[in-house]
Order: sequence, then C-alpha cells, then structure tokens
Amino acid sequence: MKKVYSHENLTQVHTVKGLLEVNGIDCTLKNEHHASGGHVGLESIPVELWVADESQAEKAIALVEKELSEAASKSEWTCPNCQERNAGSFDSCWNCGALPA
Ligand SMILES: [Zn+2]
Repeated sequence: MKKVYSHENLTQVHTVKGLLEVNGIDCTLKNEHHASGGHVGLESIPVELWVADESQAEKAIALVEKELSEAASKSEWTCPNCQERNAGSFDSCWNCGALPA
C-alpha cells in the first residue's frame, strides 16, 4: 500500500480514485468517514488515496499530476443526473456516467 494523493475535499479524492480505476489501478480511500462533509465544528482531515500495488504507485502519481494540471485548465462541471462535481477533464460523470448538460 502506498499513499499517492490526499485532499480535504472528498469529491476531489473520489474523482482521482475514479481516474486510477479507469486506468486499472486498484486503490483505496482512507479517512473517508472523517472528512468534514456536513460535520460542523470538526477539523477537516484530508482524505487519503492509497494504491494497493506499490509497483503501480509511480504510474498513479503521474496520472494524478496529469489530471490535476488538466483540471486546473478546465472548469469543473456539475452532473445533470446526480449533481456530483466533476473535474473539467472528465468527459462523463465519474459517479453515474452521465454526460454534461
Ligand atoms: Zn452523475
């Protein structure tokens, strides 16, 4: 197991997790249930993304960095079907597969 990414925004981490899974990399979230979503007064703890196979960690980190740099250049969009936020580089919703409106 190797940590490849962490972020306080659970949706953001889910987006990255989806990206890795699409690329055949098995990964797991940690601290998911401690994320600040909706819990007022709790300190926000970054959600961590761990790759099961350490030999894939380098590829995973490269994918994450590519994703983040592309996402920064495109604006996020909200899924018209399930209202999830998607990174701008996603052509379809990571959660339900719907296309942007
Ligand atoms: Zn959706």
